[in-house]
Amino acid sequence: MISFEYARANDVADATRQIAGSPGAKFIAGGTNLIDLMKMDVERPTRLVDISRLPLDKVEETRDGGLRIGALVRNTDLAYHPMVQQRYPVLSSALLAGASQQLRNMASTGGNLLQRTRCYYFYDVATPCNKREPGSGCSAIDGFNRNHAILGASEHCIATHPSDMCVALAALDARALATGNGGERSIAFADFHRLPGDTPQIDSNLRPDEIITAIELPPKGFAGHYTYLKIRDRLSYAFALVSIAVGLDVEGGTIKEARLALGGVAHKPWRDGEAEALLSGAPATRESFLRAADTVLRDARGFGHNDFKIELARRGILRALAQAARGTPQSQADKRIS
Ligand SMILES: Cc1cc2nc3c(=O)[nH]c(=O)nc-3n(C[C@H](O)[C@H](O)[C@H](O)COP(=O)(O)OP(=O)(O)OC[C@H]3O[C@@H](n4cnc5c(N)ncnc54)[C@H](O)[C@@H]3O)c2cc1C
Ligand code: SF4
Repeated sequence: MISFEYARANDVADATRQIAGSPGAKFIAGGTNLIDLMKMDVERPTRLVDISRLPLDKVEETRDGGLRIGALVRNTDLAYHPMVQQRYPVLSSALLAGASQQLRNMASTGGNLLQRTRCYYFYDVATPCNKREPGSGCSAIDGFNRNHAILGASEHCIATHPSDMCVALAALDARALATGNGGERSIAFADFHRLPGDTPQIDSNLRPDEIITAIELPPKGFAGHYTYLKIRDRLSYAFALVSIAVGLDVEGGTIKEARLALGGVAHKPWRDGEAEALLSGAPATRESFLRAADTVLRDARGFGHNDFKIELARRGILRALAQAARGTPQSQADKRIS
């Protein structure tokens, strides 16, 4: 039995005070990831600071016409929120592709960002893992690595970030709002999660004393031409092998602006500015999509069991771009693009 303290935060200031004053403390929101990790002895917080009752559960329009999503908005509420469904359907699709209804009812927006990898070795405390125990080694590199990264990995860790929601948020150019001892700051989504490098134990650039209070979306939601394509072992209740969020601005068969983010392939949602730039101004054709896919995957590298992901990602990108360009986000098959 491992004992820990439990305390509720009264407000955001109290939450950050409690975290700063107690090294080893962790916030708990929905608990759907943290409690599992504690039960498996992967995480051993000395104190749980319960933030689940803080008034951070609103979805509101911002002054510039974007959206502000409170960190405690549950994944279900966010997915079915009318403004999200109408203006940011790629986010709604990504949320509904994740986990199960029961889990989405509990899971919070902030917790989703900070959920930890699903690398089997990370959860198995009998095996070496640099993310769980820095310096112990990485069991996945020469082990079973079917779910692991093909982009941005390091010699210290080849884990992937498991979130679906975050892939859509990356494509939408979201920002995370955080409050800590240094006050409030806004973090561009691309800078929120980290690549493993030589510090795989650190997943994000959030400071230890900071709490996520909200996510902000810019006004543009790509509601006319979008898709979230998630490829996985089962049709539901499985993490992505590869997922692709696309938002396009298409006029007269020409792409004016493109957003393309990949999940299941790296330690963070993967965006590639070069591939997006190639698509901007290009005709919405298979050739353009192929060029973009090859650009995204130019440095892709498999580790044995996950080699198939490179071709899977390539085909997924082609299909997702074709679906989004046609304005048929949910079509499951595209024979012309396979
Ligand atoms: C069986 C199963 C299947 C799943 N399948 C999928 C899937 O297919 N796709 C997918 O995307 N996800 C999936 N998930 C993961 C699920 O989405 C996450 O567990 C959930 O989003 C985490 O949110 P939470 O509120 O429960 O976080 P918690 O477990 O409460 O917290 C997670 C982490 O975030 C920190 N934290 C929470 N809120 C804040 C905040 N506001 N500020 C700072 N730190 C904070 C906590 O300290 C903790 O470290 C699955 C989970 C399970 C158990
Ligand atoms: S891939 Fe990362 S999380 Fe998995 S065993 Fe290696 S160091 Fe640990």
